[in-house]
Amino acid sequence: MDLVLDVADYYVLSPYVYPASWPEGGALRQIISLLVLTNLGAAVLYLGLGVINYFLVFDHTLMKHPQFLENQVQRELKYAMTSLPLISIPTVALFFAEVRGYSKLYDTVDESPLGWPGLFLSMISFLLFTDMCIYWIHRFLHHKSIYKLFHKPHHLWKIPSPFASHAFHPVDGFMQGLPYHIYPFLFPLHKVLYLALYIFVNIWTISIHDGDYRVPGALTSAINGSAHHTDHHLFFDYNYGQYFTLWDRLGGSYRHPSALMGKGPHDLIRKLQAEGKLGDGRAKAEGQVNGDAQRRVTFKEE
Ligand SMILES: [Zn+2]
Ligand SMILES: [Zn+2]
Repeated sequence: MDLVLDVADYYVLSPYVYPASWPEGGALRQIISLLVLTNLGAAVLYLGLGVINYFLVFDHTLMKHPQFLENQVQRELKYAMTSLPLISIPTVALFFAEVRGYSKLYDTVDESPLGWPGLFLSMISFLLFTDMCIYWIHRFLHHKSIYKLFHKPHHLWKIPSPFASHAFHPVDGFMQGLPYHIYPFLFPLHKVLYLALYIFVNIWTISIHDGDYRVPGALTSAINGSAHHTDHHLFFDYNYGQYFTLWDRLGGSYRHPSALMGKGPHDLIRKLQAEGKLGDGRAKAEGQVNGDAQRRVTFKEE
């Protein structure tokens, strides 16, 4: 984050915002700047990438699904935009520690323990480490003693849109984001690579909520894509992972996506359309009241 802070200081904050008497290295000034930059960055990434995905990737047919809620997109947006500022508060504490030099982030490839290959290895280890941590944090958030407190709001969206990607309770959002922020305090990582991975994480989080189930054939069983995460939203106790299916397989929570077996949300929509049940409000009402339209078509009618 100090790269972003330096650029913001140089081009905007020092010449136009802060008085010259307030030095760039002042702790309070850094905290205020980080709060503003973190909130701006989160909003730009969430809204920018979300809008691009919503219009270019997300299949709007999914909005006809009985379990797609009334005004769901607006509700997801409102929930996320309310939570993100609260998530930013503890996040900024970690960014501040990073800016003050407590992390293992480095500036140049020369400082990488293994040179260029080290950058590649840190990319792999970042993904594996955060995938493992998020699996267990996510599974913990599903524990019946705390589920209702923090994680339940994210499961309000049974058929998510890309805007569900960041629609979390603030505690839930912070906990699931924590592995990304902790990594550079534990392992060496190039600063530019860290920023690139941060953007990638946001793209990925949106992409597993966009209902586009395509994954290159050979990788289908290894990558936790949108089809896997859709089943997590629908069936709850499966596919807690983020990037890979590894920990779900090890933890006994893997479920082969129903969408890849011809029993997914699109299949239910097609079936209801063929039966003439879409558009008369009946299927929608059943889905909303019972919340189990997909479960019925997947389990009882197979
Ligand atoms: Zn969950
Ligand atoms: Zn989700």
